Amino acid sequence: MADRGPGTVGKRAALLVVDIQNDFCPGGALGVPDGDAIIPRVNRATALFTRRGLPVVFTRDWHPRVTKHFKEFGGAWPPHCIQATKGARFHPDLDVPKGSLILSKGMDPEVDSYSGFQAFTERGRDLESALHELGVDELVICGLATDYCVRATALDALRRGMPVRVLRDAIRGVDLKPGDSEMAEKEMRVHGARFSESRGLAKLLPNARSLHDSRHLKAANR
Ligand SMILES: [Zn+2]
Repeated sequence: MADRGPGTVGKRAALLVVDIQNDFCPGGALGVPDGDAIIPRVNRATALFTRRGLPVVFTRDWHPRVTKHFKEFGGAWPPHCIQATKGARFHPDLDVPKGSLILSKGMDPEVDSYSGFQAFTERGRDLESALHELGVDELVICGLATDYCVRATALDALRRGMPVRVLRDAIRGVDLKPGDSEMAEKEMRVHGARFSESRGLAKLLPNARSLHDSRHLKAANR
């Protein structure tokens, strides 16, 4: 994999915001401790990417009521993020700019899916082809939860040869077993992910691109 050095994010990067939904925040069905604390940082990153003309992509967990993902039907989890319920909505404080690309995962009742690369747009396009369409070949990842969907998404991107940078202070983990998040971070690092604090992000990003490219984003969203 190409190594850019400690420096910068490339011109074809997107921000990927993973699963910041009510059920994954405190008070939700599967609340990540302190999960909502990252939202102001995520919003700043979203604003920054938008200003620089770089795409922002959101994923969400989007389950049917009956799925093998839930304890009741043989899975690991209490019911959460059931399609079109309040728990599945993005947290009200999360900024989702109009026209943002939103991909949903976990619709198949037979399959456990944690990675954003198992998610689809409303029109059935998967993340990989949506990113390809946007001309994106690098991801900056933030969101919930470090030890599940953030981890799985980052590893899948790296497996596809995409450079990944994780915003270390804009992720939070479940830590079902203490240390899970730390281990997930280590694993992502071992596979080539870089970690940055969101505070320094502005300096890492390329300057604003042409209007043409932001039109490109809208086109891909249709
Ligand atoms: Zn789920």
